[in-house]
Amino acid sequence: MSTQPLLEVKNLKKYFQTPKGMLHAVDDVTFSIDHGKTLGVVGESGCGKSTTGRAILRLLEPTSGEVLFEGQDVLKLSKEQMRRKRTEMQIIFQDPFSSLNPRKTVGQIIADPLKINKIIRDPNARLERVKELMETVGLANRLINTYPHELDGGRRQRIGIARALALNPKFIVCDEPVSALDVSIQAQILNLMKELQKKMGLTYMFITHDLSVVNHFSDDIAVMYLGKLIEMAPAEELFAHPTHPYTQALLSAIPIPSLDNRRERILLKGEITSPIEPPAACRFANRCAYATEKCHGAEPQLKEVSPGHVVSCFLSE
Ligand code: SF4
Repeated sequence: MSTQPLLEVKNLKKYFQTPKGMLHAVDDVTFSIDHGKTLGVVGESGCGKSTTGRAILRLLEPTSGEVLFEGQDVLKLSKEQMRRKRTEMQIIFQDPFSSLNPRKTVGQIIADPLKINKIIRDPNARLERVKELMETVGLANRLINTYPHELDGGRRQRIGIARALALNPKFIVCDEPVSALDVSIQAQILNLMKELQKKMGLTYMFITHDLSVVNHFSDDIAVMYLGKLIEMAPAEELFAHPTHPYTQALLSAIPIPSLDNRRERILLKGEITSPIEPPAACRFANRCAYATEKCHGAEPQLKEVSPGHVVSCFLSE
């Protein structure tokens, strides 16, 4: 297998013009994901994690940067080339209900990508493929003529997964795929996604606001704050040695089931820095208990603190 990562994102930026100035939604984000691996991307709402996922797939056009997929910069592709490339790069959305057309049956929804991309033209062969995909994601074939509103949240998300798998992608952006589901159903969907990854060699970018969800699911975890990637490490390392004060606060919010091993919850105070024309300072400085004058006057850069573990904080320098 090639040693080149499947996906390399370099200095990706996505800015939005607003009446108050330029909003830096994704600001100079760099990371890579190896074949068959999962990168969990974590942060509060508004940190730019979903915008990063959409910019990689060009569902939103990035402002600048590079997105190398198998070594090819997809930001340089024409619209038509990108449409074809997207068969290899898919997305699963947070809310399966609003992302599924309510007027179409389960079978029609899963068949759509095959039809639109003219992958299988023969209706009978397409029907067989739809049934096969339904089995792959654990949906009984008898549900083929039902509508999304007749099904529960877990089954609806299985439709979303089947639709994403229809074109045999290599890479899937999973945008909060279990956040709208009950906890018991979350585990079923996560298990299914893990199985599919193994079986089909899929590579995932798994976006979530909930660190506890990605703990056992990700090979590496990236933490984002106000458009910046502020810490990234192999999952075990990040949980054992969270280094950025913001990551420490996020981790402290995860309940530990043992009474002997309780940790103190770090409550974040202070005003969140505006992402509109942000100053050249640490974006976490207003909420950080360790902030010094330096933090308010200069921006820390990502530095490696141990193999594969990078952090942007003056305390780690
Ligand atoms: Fe806190 Fe300063 Fe580190 Fe930012 S650079 S996280 S303000 S200590």
